[in-house]
Amino acid sequence: MILSLYRLAILVAIAWLLRSHAVRVRFEGFRPITVEEVRVLLPAAAVLKPDATERDGADVLDAAGAKIGYTLQTAPASDSIIGYRGWTNTLLVFDPALHVLGVRIRTSQDTEDHVGDVKGDRHFMRTWDGKSWDQVAGQTPADAGIEGVSGASMTSLAIAEGIMRRLQSADSAAARAPSPWRIQARDVGLIAFLIAATWLAFRGTHGRRWVRVVLQLIAIGYVGLWNADLLAQSLIVGWAQNGVAHAPGLVLLLAMALVIPWTTGTPLYCQYVCPHGHAQELLARALPKRWRIALPKDVAAGLRWLPPLTFVCVLVVAFLHLPADLADVEPFDAYVWKTAGWATLTIAAVGLIASLFVPMAYCHYGCPTGALLNFIRRRGKGDHFGRREIAALLLVIVAALLSWKSPEMRAWLETSASDWLL
Ligand code: SF4
Repeated sequence: MILSLYRLAILVAIAWLLRSHAVRVRFEGFRPITVEEVRVLLPAAAVLKPDATERDGADVLDAAGAKIGYTLQTAPASDSIIGYRGWTNTLLVFDPALHVLGVRIRTSQDTEDHVGDVKGDRHFMRTWDGKSWDQVAGQTPADAGIEGVSGASMTSLAIAEGIMRRLQSADSAAARAPSPWRIQARDVGLIAFLIAATWLAFRGTHGRRWVRVVLQLIAIGYVGLWNADLLAQSLIVGWAQNGVAHAPGLVLLLAMALVIPWTTGTPLYCQYVCPHGHAQELLARALPKRWRIALPKDVAAGLRWLPPLTFVCVLVVAFLHLPADLADVEPFDAYVWKTAGWATLTIAAVGLIASLFVPMAYCHYGCPTGALLNFIRRRGKGDHFGRREIAALLLVIVAALLSWKSPEMRAWLETSASDWLL
């Protein structure tokens, strides 16, 4: 029981780190606002508490924990607004009723002299003071009668545009109401399939192999190729970061894939649902047994490192918000074959071909999602704390480090990439 709770705690810890990091990055980007910056405009500021709403800012708290204001920066919304030769990232501080208390320039890639002129123009820098969020978001700089700073008009008007666009983008994100929870035909189909798969998992086929083959063909054809309802790292990480999609069938699928192995030890998803697992199982019977290859022990042991190494890559991409698609590390997107990328198609094809000679090759040696679902599985009396549990704890530590040091790591990566390109 303690081991089961430990494994659950590992998953919850990683999910919590992903979620809290995503909320923080939405507020700070990789250029965190400091309390000292806010204190210039709001001297009682003691703590910044990231806000999980679409405003993507932070509540400003005093030393007693009371909310005394709100703050945000215009980046990244302002990154595409070029003044004279670059963007400017601006800090805004509001009172609790969301009236502007002040504006400060944080960083800029614009001409230093122009930025200096704007900073030194007290009249311009006070343009927004006292205005409400809606007033600032509702008017273009021209409508609001904002005049540029003499000699730095492009830089100053870009700053005004960046402020307006930043508040507008938060408003439009908030206005985009999430689609309601609605049960659609595909949810009904998936739920019916899950009921059948669960029935077979606990009742068995009583020697009727054809029953399992029918289940496999439905899984591949309907769950996989028709609906593409597969669990994957991209889906699990995305839901941990942003909240679950309003798709009842898929949510139930993930819940059952975690809860049933955790409580009963039955690997429901891997053995009865996953289309890619079923495809490999069917292919393994396609060739005579004498064609099978037994991997040397060393090779097999080396290949078993693939899933944990893939986990590390997934965490690096997720925490550093690197421009890589997590769907490319697994074969599951290949089931949406019309739009799938070459990476996922290649992994799917290689895995399926390999399974002709090494049964369930991808499941045994390559699949991070299968490894995750297997990790949570209850194993009965012989269960013990082993290398897997230590590795999982190390992954939590890696996730915590990535979350903590992400601005420095991002900066290092950006510098290295530009050095390499030059
Ligand atoms: S190990 Fe991966 S590919 Fe294999 S059945 Fe499980 S989730 Fe599917």
